[in-house]
Amino acid sequence: MDQTEKLKAEVAARRDDLVALTQDLIRIPTLNPPGENYREICDYLDRRLLRAGFHTELIRAKGAIGDSDRHPRWNIVARREGVGAGDCVHFNSHIDVVEVGHGWTTDPFGGEVRDGRIYGRGSCDMKGGLAASIVAAEAFIALCPDYVGAIEISGTADEESGGFGGVAYLAEKGYFSPDRVQHVIIPEPLNKDRICLGHRGVWWAEIETKGEIAHGSMPFLGDCAVRHMGAVVAEMEESLFPALSEKRTEMPVVPDGAKQSTLNINSIHGGEAEQEADYTGLPSPCVPDRCRMVIDRRFLIEEDIDEVEAEIRAVLERVRAGRESFDYDIRELHRVLPTMTERDAPVVVSVAKAVSQTFGREPDYVVSPGTYDQKHIDRIGRLKNCIAYGPGILDLAHKPDEYIGIEDMVQSAQVMALSLRDLLAG
Ligand SMILES: [Zn+2]
Repeated sequence: MDQTEKLKAEVAARRDDLVALTQDLIRIPTLNPPGENYREICDYLDRRLLRAGFHTELIRAKGAIGDSDRHPRWNIVARREGVGAGDCVHFNSHIDVVEVGHGWTTDPFGGEVRDGRIYGRGSCDMKGGLAASIVAAEAFIALCPDYVGAIEISGTADEESGGFGGVAYLAEKGYFSPDRVQHVIIPEPLNKDRICLGHRGVWWAEIETKGEIAHGSMPFLGDCAVRHMGAVVAEMEESLFPALSEKRTEMPVVPDGAKQSTLNINSIHGGEAEQEADYTGLPSPCVPDRCRMVIDRRFLIEEDIDEVEAEIRAVLERVRAGRESFDYDIRELHRVLPTMTERDAPVVVSVAKAVSQTFGREPDYVVSPGTYDQKHIDRIGRLKNCIAYGPGILDLAHKPDEYIGIEDMVQSAQVMALSLRDLLAG
């Protein structure tokens, strides 16, 4: 058996261990929000990685948004040095999971195994990927104890809510700076034979239209902010949505519908606040003097963020030109620039080779429609050599009866172990 086959066999022999590890991780309910059991899962990972010879650090993102004494934002970073100088390969997984929601037929925190799958919230997004990276590293260390460089494995908080108490915090502290880490693999569920190079950009904003309050029986004495917002929506339908669908990208974004600029209207609210469900009274008759809309604009690497913002302002100015007394405010809520790692970056080349060795064909290269922690590694860490690669089907993330295929995890772990050998063999 050659080295490649030996390493694949070493991973395959750990199949039961990989299943048990994934189940254990699912059984620690790390719901976010509010951010539960981060310490418990970090302690669990700490014990596991210490046994594998890693030096570990538990780091609380003290003062980061979301961090509190009741729900502290704990992270773990583990590092294992090789026998000589070389590159560091870092596997980063988020430890948090989203709410359970309705429609489950299995226990969301039970980790039940059925028909070759492990079920549970976070199984696919992304405790299965985390487990695969740990088993891949352990198998690689067992077979190639004389590697050079270093392996790092991190479990980080809050990816689902922006990553500020997780990867962003660690990046600020230098954990992803290029003199410490040279290759980053994020085992998000992008499928075992696809390499995700990056993501589109994000621009969130709140638009407010202004009116004047008056009695609802005499609306002509006031100015209805909701009608003004209606005019904004009409102008978006007329000019903006058609323009966005014309903007196509060279980025290999999946699914196909996301290969263009998109805009979602997240919410519109105007007028009197909605009352609690147990309120039995009627509303009062008022002309709404404020209406607010939150928009979620996803943009392409070919677009400039200033142009994205200017385009929305132009919509509002066109409405102003056609409506007397129209006035508005616009406020940015959140921005993330698009990022895309080069196809000839070292981590991409190594993982692509490992995918070929495992599946007998080239990987697909994709870009994610939404962002993930790569944004912080790119922008704060200044590290460009980063991809998402991991087992699982992205469409299952956040859904009821989320699962991860066991065979997919084993094969993904083989790809990760082969990539480690390629990058750290010396
Ligand atoms: Zn995820």
